[in-house]
Amino acid sequence: MGIPLASPSRLASLRGRTPTVATLCSHSSLQIFHGARVEGFPTLGLSVGPPPRFYDAFPLARPDRFLSVPTVKELAALSARLREEGAVIVPHGSFVEYLGAEAFAELDVPVFGNRAVLGWESDRRKERDWLESAGVTMPKLIDDPQEIRGPVIVKYYGAKGGKGFFLAKNREGLEEFRPTGPYVIQEYVLGTRYYMHFFYSPLSDRGYRVGHGSIELLGMDRRDEANIDELYKLGAQEELLKVGIRPTFVVTGNVPVVLRESLLPRAFDVAARIVERSVELFGGMVGPFCLEGIMTEDLEFKVFEISTRIVAGTNLFISGSPYSDFIEPQLSTGRRIAQEIRRGATEGRLAEILS
Ligand code: AMP
Repeated sequence: MGIPLASPSRLASLRGRTPTVATLCSHSSLQIFHGARVEGFPTLGLSVGPPPRFYDAFPLARPDRFLSVPTVKELAALSARLREEGAVIVPHGSFVEYLGAEAFAELDVPVFGNRAVLGWESDRRKERDWLESAGVTMPKLIDDPQEIRGPVIVKYYGAKGGKGFFLAKNREGLEEFRPTGPYVIQEYVLGTRYYMHFFYSPLSDRGYRVGHGSIELLGMDRRDEANIDELYKLGAQEELLKVGIRPTFVVTGNVPVVLRESLLPRAFDVAARIVERSVELFGGMVGPFCLEGIMTEDLEFKVFEISTRIVAGTNLFISGSPYSDFIEPQLSTGRRIAQEIRRGATEGRLAEILS
């Protein structure tokens, strides 16, 4: 038996009924609804404004019903209604971002996964404490610009994957940086980026065992980032600056990748350490998570970020990936979430996977 995350009162709305899988109509919602439908769950789409029309174009991924509110703020007030519907909310990046981490944490509705993870993921310093205390290598943090020995990246707090990151080739280059808010300076890691889609099941008793359960690797992607990419990241900067364009890392899409098979043990080892430490720190990170890092030419994997819920890169693998095909055919992350909810409900263990 694993660690209970939800109190009996939090789960009261689900007693004796099949949960309805609900999420915000954005990000990876098509995959979440499709996966839930394949596993036989009713589905509910939450939309801000009228339900998006694009669902009409995808009949197998369209939620059974919609619940619409005029503005994002009203979402926070939907708890009672969602409990009546027997909803389990499946969080995704846009859901938490639109609603705000605080309002999301306060939703009085069962949420898939451990919402305590939010506090650790949304604060870059706490995230670093978690990962480094798990023995994971991250890009070096530079407190004093005098310590700069090579290229650096400057990130504003909260500006995830966004605009305003500043790249400097060296200490002199950083002198041009004019901060507009709190920021951190990191070593700029040269290598190849990998975004690894893992799933931690505290209910599973087979496979790659970690803690009370096991981890699965469901897919891997690389993000396309405009207006900068790959080899040109540092070299092209001057050329871009000449025409008045600052490099940004705004995500515009995703491409599938696989890792050299000989590097898989390392990837699993890093994932396992992070899960084990999450159990010690806050009762465990449950369900999908993504390790985002750079493999250097010395084959060291430096993790610059962890996303602790389904990431949009999993949208590549609706009918399976080169990894999930070795677990079960046609296994998307959305479907895997639905399977976990079904197992939790069947075995009376929902408290271990919902919060
Ligand atoms: P993040 O907001 O931390 O997810 O970073 C956004 C993007 O910036 C990543 O997808 C990488 O392309 C790049 N990046 C972040 N940190 C580093 C780093 N330390 N070295 C090189 N590139 C980085």
